[in-house]
Amino acid sequence: MQHYELIGHPLGHSLSPEIHRALFKLDGIDADYRLDAFPPEDFSSRLTHLKQLSGFNVTIPYKRTIVPYLDELADSAALYGAVNTVSIRDGILTGCNTDCIGFLRAISAHHISLNTSVCVLGAGGAGRMFAIESARQGGNVTVAVRKSSYEKAEVLAKEIREKIGCEITVCDIENLTGCYGLIINATPVGMSPKTGRSPVDATIFQGTEAVFDCIYNPAETQLLKDARKAGCKVAGGMDMLVWQAAAAHEIWHGSQYEDAQIANIITQMNDLLLQKERPNE
Ligand code: NAP
Repeated sequence: MQHYELIGHPLGHSLSPEIHRALFKLDGIDADYRLDAFPPEDFSSRLTHLKQLSGFNVTIPYKRTIVPYLDELADSAALYGAVNTVSIRDGILTGCNTDCIGFLRAISAHHISLNTSVCVLGAGGAGRMFAIESARQGGNVTVAVRKSSYEKAEVLAKEIREKIGCEITVCDIENLTGCYGLIINATPVGMSPKTGRSPVDATIFQGTEAVFDCIYNPAETQLLKDARKAGCKVAGGMDMLVWQAAAAHEIWHGSQYEDAQIANIITQMNDLLLQKERPNE
């Protein structure tokens, strides 16, 4: 039997074991997947154990911490400076980032394009990736942040101008106006247990075509409810969570999935969330 893990701290009631077990079932691979939560002071002593696994996933706070301990980085991880998947072959540890591919597959399954005016709400880890990827795909990008994050967002804007050579606007999330092809929420506003909140006023959706919320708990956030009511195309974070896990299986053992197989797992996971109140990873 092969052994896989998710490392992070804390891990709470992560859905990752259920998602990966469903994928291993599709793969026809005899493997287990467990949560391995340990505090930062135990990080280096955990490495011997991690090297004996077939592969592992990495979440907060170790997405950057793990980098110096790896033998090599895939382009995806080097670009975003963060690792969420590690493959182990012949003792060589390779760091990859499947968040981006998970995001791209999730929006493409909903026929949402990045080659439009894209407004990213938030400039943290996920917001950074959404903004860079939107710019890479030809999007005209605006990053909307609260005043306390302005400096961080300007650093990101400078990086995008230098790396990708396109213009990018930073604005105040509290006074967001305009018409966008796509609005992406990369803030935790509206996440369980503080549901019913949205980072932006619903009026912004009047001129918006599509909305992606990277929060997956609840499946439909207040932001998505407002957007749906305004007639926007909508997609939620569970799609990205399951697709990024599927991309890890492609890396670990070359698995390929039909959209319908992944859609089935997304539905199963949303049902699981409804059955139990689960805090986020
Ligand atoms: P992060 O690095 O902490 O960034 C969060 C961003 O949201 C920061 O820019 C933060 O601004 C901003 N923010 C927080 N509270 C805000 C508020 N009340 N109003 C406006 N902006 C606010 O977090 P992250 O790792 O990017 O994650 C963000 C969200 O994405 C989380 O809900 C996470 O669960 C979700 N996520 C989902 C997936 C998936 O697969 N579906 C993957 C990754 C992340 P400050 O800098 O001012 O605090």
